[in-house]
Amino acid sequence: MAIPLTKIVATLGPASGNKAAIKSLVAKGVNIFRLNLSHGTHETVRQWIHWIREVEEEHHSFVGILLDLQGPKIRVGKFKEGSIHIKKGQKLTFTTEKKIGDESLVPVQYPRFHEEVTKGGKIFLDDGKLSGVVRQVSGQRAEVEILTGGILSDHKGINLPDSKLTADPITSKDKADLKFGVQEGVDMVALSFTGCAKDVRRLKSLIKKHGSPEIEVIAKIERKQAVDNLEEIVEEADGVMVARGDLGIEISLTEVPIVQQRILREGAKHSKPVIVATQMLESMIEHARPTRAEVSDVANAVKDCADAIMLSGETAVGKHAVAAVGVMVETALKIEAYLAETRTVDPMDLFFKDEPDINAGITYSANRMVELLKARAMVVFTHSGGTAKMVASHKPMVPVFAFTPSLHRARLLNLIRGVAPFVVEEDKHLLLHMEQLVIMLKKRRLLKKGDRVVITTGIPVGIPNWTNIIRVEEVP
Ligand code: PEP
Repeated sequence: MAIPLTKIVATLGPASGNKAAIKSLVAKGVNIFRLNLSHGTHETVRQWIHWIREVEEEHHSFVGILLDLQGPKIRVGKFKEGSIHIKKGQKLTFTTEKKIGDESLVPVQYPRFHEEVTKGGKIFLDDGKLSGVVRQVSGQRAEVEILTGGILSDHKGINLPDSKLTADPITSKDKADLKFGVQEGVDMVALSFTGCAKDVRRLKSLIKKHGSPEIEVIAKIERKQAVDNLEEIVEEADGVMVARGDLGIEISLTEVPIVQQRILREGAKHSKPVIVATQMLESMIEHARPTRAEVSDVANAVKDCADAIMLSGETAVGKHAVAAVGVMVETALKIEAYLAETRTVDPMDLFFKDEPDINAGITYSANRMVELLKARAMVVFTHSGGTAKMVASHKPMVPVFAFTPSLHRARLLNLIRGVAPFVVEEDKHLLLHMEQLVIMLKKRRLLKKGDRVVITTGIPVGIPNWTNIIRVEEVP
């Protein structure tokens, strides 16, 4: 079965939170599962993690687990009847008082709401389906004129793109969820509503305090502030997510594709993986076939060399979870084949504004050598994952077989475009054994006789982020 270079992240939820579904999703091509703690209790998620690890072993592959912290999502409270019907032009009172809502009163669960909304500021409800504008603020109440009406039900989300929110991106629920995730051995944690690099540093230090500094942090870019601070966030985080759901409300919807391009570019520049997320195949929540526009969206993310493309509702609550993964795999394979034939861009200018260091020079040159010698694959030996990420950030059109001594590292590398991880024992005499590894790849039918392979590593072995060798082997 052909495997695309582009990785697939799938969100688990009620529709897929059972072992049989997890097995089918992995068999179809899922590389990373996202566990969203907005959906499941610790008990449920613990069981999911257990099943993922079992399936991983049975499938002889690596599957990463990304725990997505909910963050300070602002929500409306409860209504007497569970929901209200609001109409365009209607004036509603939003309040932080502890009250049950009704047709004219909307309770808000964020205590500083009345201090941080401003007269004239926009307010979006339920993922932007409903909207209004703040006309007046007095005490704990804000009067809002509805611009787009509809049904507003209990606990729906609120977005305030014109307000400077002071809510801590790491809530007390997140802290408890993080502790749980570390105990359960997740590989990565996603930070919702990241604002700046300091937020990422805080999460990293909490992770460290729990004794698992090897867990990586994926910063979700979904606020204007994060877009403004993009470069420092990418530098600090281990990877980023274009979280287009909230982003499409926090900034103008028509700017989202441009921001997506900027994030992809920034990720590649810093050798950090980028996940493109949300509504990629949204219609497949209900329907067996996606729309043309959705397939185009997936195709464009693949063409732009995103590390990973993500499914949210499609796999969490959708009726066609496995088929949605199939559409991503098929689309990625088609576009990658087309790219391999037609791509002529030389990304040099992206990487070498400043004088490159040795790692950058070697990994760049290894990529050029693949093109020059028509090599079929790259091989890297990596401890920290740095060499694999740097090689992959040049977006080669061949797989990067990455050998690492750590199972956790192998799972993390499964998020990086093109990287196929293998766990091997630490080998101080690597230079003597390279041919054997190439033969092993041949035995596994990943290479065939006569294929050329470009190998990069650091000698002496074992120094993190040290890459100083390029070697070319021909499969015997
Ligand atoms: C998003 O907003 O696009 C996103 C991925 O976050 P969540 O699904 O947690 O809202």
